[in-house]
Amino acid sequence: METPANQTPAAPNLAPHIALVTGAGRGIGRAIAQQLSAAGARVVLSARSERELNETAAAIRDAGGDAACVVCDLSDRSQSSTLVSAANDQFGPIDILVNNAGVGSASDPRPLADYRDEFWDLSLEVNLTAPYVLSKGVLPAMRHARWGRIITIASINGKQANLHAGAYAATKHGVIGLMRTLALEHAAEGITVNCICPGPVKTAMNDIRIRYDAERLGRDLAEHEAGLTPIGGRLDPDDIAAMAVYLASDSARMITGQSYNIDGGRCMF
Ligand code: NAP
Repeated sequence: METPANQTPAAPNLAPHIALVTGAGRGIGRAIAQQLSAAGARVVLSARSERELNETAAAIRDAGGDAACVVCDLSDRSQSSTLVSAANDQFGPIDILVNNAGVGSASDPRPLADYRDEFWDLSLEVNLTAPYVLSKGVLPAMRHARWGRIITIASINGKQANLHAGAYAATKHGVIGLMRTLALEHAAEGITVNCICPGPVKTAMNDIRIRYDAERLGRDLAEHEAGLTPIGGRLDPDDIAAMAVYLASDSARMITGQSYNIDGGRCMF
């Protein structure tokens, strides 16, 4: 059925907001940065790889947007604790924070009994502590402006377990709890805090995971991938980015403390 002309929903307009997107060099973070920019936000891109950040920035500028890059290793607390001030220096105070950077489970998959403490510590620092540090960093300006959006990319593994992914599941469950607390604490200040919980998305991180699982289960990779979600196959990064743009928009002003599964129907709670 066609939408009558006078009922066309308005496209989100994120001008004059300024977003910081971590892990913006590739994958989901790159798609989020591009879609936030297409909706009118200026974006500060962060990750370790300067080359990948520059590629994302070039794509945004080619499309007519404004982007700046700040290299930062979120596994290093001395770097994560200064990222927000470096980001604020680019276009002005950050009022949309997207905590997207993450360490995937398949970087070092093992049963918990065989876990390496170093990988546990790394996962906690990047997936849980960095969102805590960055959220604390952006809150003063958001409270002053009485407007802010914190959007954290958790995972369906923040709601259900996955084999050989103990640190990943623990940090993703943890970050949902952290974001719910922040949502409650700042609900009356015009600041919303939400999580997005992706299922399997076609990115470098998930490529490693699905290869690991297909080998472990003795399955053909293509068949394994096709059966990953009830809808079929894996998601595209843009499927996740669309929800981030919505949550950043004024249309979502009454939504806070939520964790939305975007996962092809894989997790239904
Ligand atoms: P990806 O393609 O591997 O991208 C990860 C991004 O995070 C990269 O830009 C990477 O850049 C950055 N990053 C990693 N370690 C970092 C560090 N120590 N400091 C700063 N930046 C760092 O992964 P993705 O799939 O897009 O994942 C993005 C988010 O979605 C993660 O939080 C992940 O857990 C979540 N997620 C993904 C899926 C999926 O199926 N893909 C499913 C559920 C949730 P550098 O390496 O240059 O630092």
